[in-house]
Amino acid sequence: MESSLPELPADTVQRIASELRCHPTDERVALHLDEEDKLRHLREYFYIPKMRDLPPIDLSLVNKDENAIYFLGNSLGLQPKMVKTYLEEELDKWAKIGAYGHEVGKRPWITGDEKITGLMTDIVGANEEEIVLMNGLTVNLHLLLLTFFKPTPKRYKILLEAKAFPSDHYAIESQLQLHGLNVEKSMLIIKPREGEEILRTEDILEVIEKEGDSIAVILFTGVHFYTGQFFNIPAITKAGQAKGCFVGFDLAHAVGNVELHLHDWGVDFACWCSYKYLNSGAGGLAGAFVHEKHAYTIKPALVGWFGHELSTRFKMDNKLQLIPGASGFRISNPPIFLVCSLHASLEVFKQTTMKALRRKSILLTGYLEYMIKHYYNKDKAESKKPHVNIITPSNIEDRGCQLTLTFSAPMKYIFKELEKRGVVCDKREPNGIRVAPVPLYNSFHDVYKFVTLLISALDSAEAKS
Ligand SMILES: *Cc1c(COP(=O)(O)O)cnc(C)c1O
Repeated sequence: MESSLPELPADTVQRIASELRCHPTDERVALHLDEEDKLRHLREYFYIPKMRDLPPIDLSLVNKDENAIYFLGNSLGLQPKMVKTYLEEELDKWAKIGAYGHEVGKRPWITGDEKITGLMTDIVGANEEEIVLMNGLTVNLHLLLLTFFKPTPKRYKILLEAKAFPSDHYAIESQLQLHGLNVEKSMLIIKPREGEEILRTEDILEVIEKEGDSIAVILFTGVHFYTGQFFNIPAITKAGQAKGCFVGFDLAHAVGNVELHLHDWGVDFACWCSYKYLNSGAGGLAGAFVHEKHAYTIKPALVGWFGHELSTRFKMDNKLQLIPGASGFRISNPPIFLVCSLHASLEVFKQTTMKALRRKSILLTGYLEYMIKHYYNKDKAESKKPHVNIITPSNIEDRGCQLTLTFSAPMKYIFKELEKRGVVCDKREPNGIRVAPVPLYNSFHDVYKFVTLLISALDSAEAKS
């Protein structure tokens, strides 16, 4: 999916170390990588939490005035500094001119969402007409399934990956029930092979080949929330469509993280949230994609007045003139305050490209992987020393920025020790800690510091066990 890289991250790290005449794990390597990072200025557009403000911090272990190591952009992105300004603009407008705000200003409230849709095109790889910003992610997933999932007696299944995000799982379950279908027979779940964590593309394609005739919709995530696996979207799309299925993706963990080309890949539909890598704040405005090829043939199952053409929307004559494509799926008027925060973030993305962000991301996460493997490779580790296993694929093309770590020592305790040291990441059952160095605002030095804190947390966990 990626263009071929000139140099693997591990080779870059080693090359720089030898140029600097130091060991690859030396702090100078991180500092040098930051110096060479052409995107490092983008960090300045975000508020980075301070150690002292984090609830679980142990002030005896850290310098309270230092920045926290925020590796949780996969769950909630940091706040762009312009959010407050943009919110204030709309609050002021509301205070000063009330309802006139619908039509005037930088973001007329009636079209506020449309004003920022163009900023999403590079991020998802789609035309503006294929993208709509509305609702929350799971709501959009439901709306899309109501339209694309039209089961017949022969073709009635939905294919998804094992351990899908609970909300997606429930959404699919309830959609099947809505159609009076037997959930167990209709929900086709692909599991990794025995003893493996990652789904093999060949296995996914085989299930599609075998069962495709009975599958109505394939709904995969782009990047898996737990393992961090980046699925082969074009291959799954192509195989599914060859069998006559609609193919859609939940891009919650993919959008703003990896390069996407939804239009060129021919994906039928997709949805995503914006509070993870898109930094719009909790509950932010979600997005949806409907491929151009469906603009005049696929109609939203549920319609509201914001799906009606703008030119005649306010005639209020109850004669629906549906907007073709994604915008026709809008039901309500856009929540302008959610538009503001997303706007602030998308403007930061606009200063670069997904291609450039991804290039940095590969090196940033590759550096993290290199460092973890150096210190905690299972083969190298002394038998007593805890080891750290990375379950995320090591192949660059099969992952985004997140690595999921599992440990030989109890994970809960290690996680606590990390939190005390100002590392913001999260733990997920059964035994993973997810860490996501985000290229938009994390630095190579963040990775370096994370690794030193991980060593200290593991040492402490070991001492107490
Ligand atoms: C984060 C996430 C969600 C959350 O759904 P909301 O409707 O935004 O609360 C759903 N699905 C996936 C795959 C996610 O990663």
